[in-house]
Amino acid sequence: MTQIFNAITQKENGARLSGSVIRNGGLVAFPTETVYGLGANGLDGAAVQRIFEVKGRPNDNPLILHVAKKSDVKALWHDIPEKARILMDTFWPGPLTIVYNKSSVVPDEVTAGLPTVAVRMPDHRCALALIREAGVPIAAPSANLSGKPSPTTAEHVKDDLWGKIDVILDGGPCRVGLESTVLSLVGTPAILRPGGVTKEMLEAVIGEVAVANAVLHPLGANEKAASPGMKYKHYAPDAQVIIGMHPNPRAAAGLIAREYDVRESRGERCVIFASKQTEPFYRGRTCVIIGDRKDPSTMCAALFSSLRAYSGKADVILTESLPETDMGLAYMNRLLRAAGFETIEE
Ligand code: AMP
Ligand code: MG
Repeated sequence: MTQIFNAITQKENGARLSGSVIRNGGLVAFPTETVYGLGANGLDGAAVQRIFEVKGRPNDNPLILHVAKKSDVKALWHDIPEKARILMDTFWPGPLTIVYNKSSVVPDEVTAGLPTVAVRMPDHRCALALIREAGVPIAAPSANLSGKPSPTTAEHVKDDLWGKIDVILDGGPCRVGLESTVLSLVGTPAILRPGGVTKEMLEAVIGEVAVANAVLHPLGANEKAASPGMKYKHYAPDAQVIIGMHPNPRAAAGLIAREYDVRESRGERCVIFASKQTEPFYRGRTCVIIGDRKDPSTMCAALFSSLRAYSGKADVILTESLPETDMGLAYMNRLLRAAGFETIEE
């Protein structure tokens, strides 16, 4: 049985009960500012193992530990490098996960056997209250079935996990809508997964930051992913996703409109994910505005829920590329995976 609590009106009860569920080895889905997480006691290997089973997540894809205060990392990392201190002071609580050498208290189930562990402090009252009540770091991936778009509302979590987990805390829609930035501080700082804390923001405080090749490119057959999650098919709705790639939005819209017309004439159900700026170029075609190109964070916030909304309802979802700067990098990272890297170019 799954119990659901409103994280605002049933705040005290929900957090108290969920905290004890976590301590006793159960699973709780909870809102964060990025996406909904599926949490278990991060110090209990058997509880963490249940997350993998429920999601159908490959066992070699490690989880992020969520903490309620900065000083909690002391017990989880081998030591705290200076750059981590600066980053935590600047961006925590917030959508930045830091990967660093683990201490011996972190179970292998969390790290998939890696010598490093990923940690973050979420910027969400409900998530922080839950971690405090639990009294342990909470291991949590996104609360979806593996491979599907991450959940940004409690409704999405219900669709995927109802009956399979103990509690869902409903805190309304998530602000960022994409998972956290994952930054490795083992060796040269490198972004393994882009997110709400951008490369530009990181570089302003710690200097040059590399971007792992897998962020925007499919892994080569013999290539090893710095972040195991990058090698799996991800974020895919039940529809074919195609990206019109062009730096000029008008030209991208032209590519998309042409593809739409070809597909529609074959009887395929098509929808275009447009932006405020490009919607006029798609006249007469089925199209939804998912955000404003001038503020890519609006497109990020709507991407997963839009993919879910048309999953199984359209055969083809046609989307525009964004420049790969600021939040555009995170947007393109998720969109390319949702599309299985299928693009149309001139
Ligand atoms: P999710 O839990 O679905 O948000 O995914 C967590 C992401 O963080 C995945 O892409 C993981 O591969 C990555 N990750 C977690 N722990 C580590 C680690 N120790 N080293 C590298 N990547 C990690
Ligand atoms: Mg995930």
